[in-house]
Amino acid sequence: MRMSSLFAPTLREDPAEAETISHKLMIRAGMIRKVAAGIYNFLPLGYRVIRKIEQIIREEMDAKGGQELFMPALQPAELWKQSGRWDVYGPELMRLIDRNGRPFCLGPTHEEVVTTLVKENVRSYRELPLLLYQIQTKFRDEIRPRFGVMRAREFLMKDLYSFDKDEEGMNKSYEAMYDAYCRVFKRCGLAFKVVEADPGAIGGTGSQEFMVLAKTGEEEIVYCDDCNYAANTNQASSIVPDMDFSMGEEERELKKVYTPGAKTIEEVANFLGVEKKRTVKTLFYEAIYSQDSWEIVAALVRGDYDINETKLKNYLGCLYLNLAKEEEIAKVSGGKVGFVGPIGLKGVRVIIDPTVQRLKNAVVGAGEEDYHFINANPGRDFELKEIVDIRLVRAGDRCVRCGSELKTTRGIEVGHIFKLGLKYSKAMDAKFVDRDGKEKYYYMGCYGIGVGRTMAAAIEQNHDEDGIIWPMSIAPYHVVVIPVEYSNGEHMRVATQIYESLRERGVEVVIDDRDESPGVKFKDADLIGFPLRITVGDALKEGKVELRWRKTKEVRFYPLGEVVEAVIKEIEEELKALSS
Ligand code: ATP
Ligand code: MG
Repeated sequence: MRMSSLFAPTLREDPAEAETISHKLMIRAGMIRKVAAGIYNFLPLGYRVIRKIEQIIREEMDAKGGQELFMPALQPAELWKQSGRWDVYGPELMRLIDRNGRPFCLGPTHEEVVTTLVKENVRSYRELPLLLYQIQTKFRDEIRPRFGVMRAREFLMKDLYSFDKDEEGMNKSYEAMYDAYCRVFKRCGLAFKVVEADPGAIGGTGSQEFMVLAKTGEEEIVYCDDCNYAANTNQASSIVPDMDFSMGEEERELKKVYTPGAKTIEEVANFLGVEKKRTVKTLFYEAIYSQDSWEIVAALVRGDYDINETKLKNYLGCLYLNLAKEEEIAKVSGGKVGFVGPIGLKGVRVIIDPTVQRLKNAVVGAGEEDYHFINANPGRDFELKEIVDIRLVRAGDRCVRCGSELKTTRGIEVGHIFKLGLKYSKAMDAKFVDRDGKEKYYYMGCYGIGVGRTMAAAIEQNHDEDGIIWPMSIAPYHVVVIPVEYSNGEHMRVATQIYESLRERGVEVVIDDRDESPGVKFKDADLIGFPLRITVGDALKEGKVELRWRKTKEVRFYPLGEVVEAVIKEIEEELKALSS
C-alpha cells in the first residue's frame, strides 16, 4: 500500500471527546471516526486490525470444531417473547416496528435465533455436539456509550453457541471454548485474567470473563496471588478478616444519642469516636419484580463495607433494583435518609449481611433526624431473619479458597463464556431424540468476544507516548518503508525496490511515498504503530538501510541485500512466539 493513497487521516492533537488512550489513539491514527454516540466508522487501517482479530478467532473456533454461519441482526419480537427476554432485556434492546406494525429488535445477542434454527433442523443426538458461531454486528442501546468502540451501541461480536446432549457434553464444550479463548487472547498479544462472573441477563449456571488488565478498565477484579481465585468484584466472595472483633463483648444497654448533622458513616464514627466497623450501614431499595409487583427492601452491611447490588439483586431475584426514594423510606422507617436504621422498621423486608449479624454494641441510625443508637445488638434490638452475603469485597479481605490476602485491579472484559444449561432450550422448547429414543432438551452454552473491544484493549496494553505499538499478529501492516527525502531519486528508488520485494514475499507493507518531511513520516509511523520500520536515508551511501523496532526503539543497519530476509525472519519469529 502506498501511503500517498491510503485513507488514514492522522491527527496531531488529542480529540477532545476521547477519555481513554485507546480511543484517542484510534482516532489520531486514522483508524476510526464517530458517526453518532457509540456508532463508528472503521477506516481502512482500523478495519484491517478488525479482520486480523476476526481471523485469529476463526482459526481458534474452527480448531475446536466450531462452524461459522451468519444470522440476521433484525429479529422478530415473537422469538424474544418466547424466551421471555422481550420484557427482561429492558431499554438496552433496540426495538423497532416494520411497515405492517410488527415489532422487531436489532439483536444484542442471538440465543433465540440460533436455538430456533437448531430446534427446527436438528433431530438426533448423533448430530451433537454442535458448535455454531458467527462474527456479526450487535446492537445494544447502552446507557453510557463511551471509550470509542470499547462500549459502543453497534459493535462486532463473535458469538458461538454450543448444543450438547447432556451436562457432561456441555461442560466439555465449555472447556474447549475456555481453551480457545485463552489462545485467541494470547495470539492477540494480550495479558489477561480469567475471572468468575455474574451471569446477568443471559442467565445460566456458570460463567467466566476474560479480562484484559488495564488501568482504564471499567471492571474491578479481585484476585489472589497464592491460588488461582479471581472474580469480578460484583460477584466475588471473601472472608472478612476481623468479622468477630466485637463478639466477646457483653451486650450493653441500647441508648439514643444526639449526633447533630452526622449523616455519613464517616461523620457518625468520627463524632462518636468509634471505628467505622462498629457502625451499621442501612440502605433502602425498591425491588421491582414485574410491572405490578414491587417491594421496599432494607439492606444492612457493616459500616466499613459497601453493599453489592448485584448480589442483592440476584438474591431477591428481581428485574430491577433501585435506591428507594426519600418518601418511600420515610413511610417504612419514619426517619430521614442519613439517620435511618434497622430498629423499629415497619412493613419492610430486611436483608442482613453476616458482618452485621456478628456485631455487638453497634451504632445504628435512630430513625430520627440528628440521632443514632449506640449499643444496638442484632437479634436483641432488631430481628435477624434473612442473613445473606450482600457485601462488596475489598482489597485486604481473605480469599475464600486459600485464606490469603485478596488484591484488586482493573480490567476490560473482552470475552465471556457461559454455561446456559437448559434455560433457552426449555423456553424455546428445543429438543432432540436421544439414544434411548426419548426427547430431551439441549444443554447449551454461549461464548462471546467483542472484536472492537479486543482491538481497543490491545491498544490500552500496547502503546507509548508516541502512539500505538501493535503486536505483530494484529498490526494493520507489518512494516513501513520510509524514503527519507522525497526529492532524492535514490532514496525513492531503493525504498520502492524494498517495498516491492517485501510485497512479493507476502509481507504486509506500506511505503510512505508522500511529499512530506521525514519528521511527519516518522511521527505517523509511530502513531499508527507499524511494528517494523525500514528507513532509506544517509546510510545508503554505505549500501545500508535502517531497521527499527517500534516496541523497543532498537535500530540496526542491514546491507540492502539482507534487509528483506531480516524482516521476514523477524515477523515469523514474533508470530510464532505469540501463537506458541
Ligand atoms: P459488559 O458487562 O461490558 O456490558 P456484557 O456482559 O454485556 O459486557 P456480553 O453480553 O457477555 O457482554 O457480550 C460478549 C462480549 O461482547 C463482551 O465480553 C465484550 O467483549 C463485547 N461487548 C459487550 N458489550 C459491548 C459494547 N457495548 N461495545 C463493544 N463490545 C461489547
Ligand atoms: Mg453489557
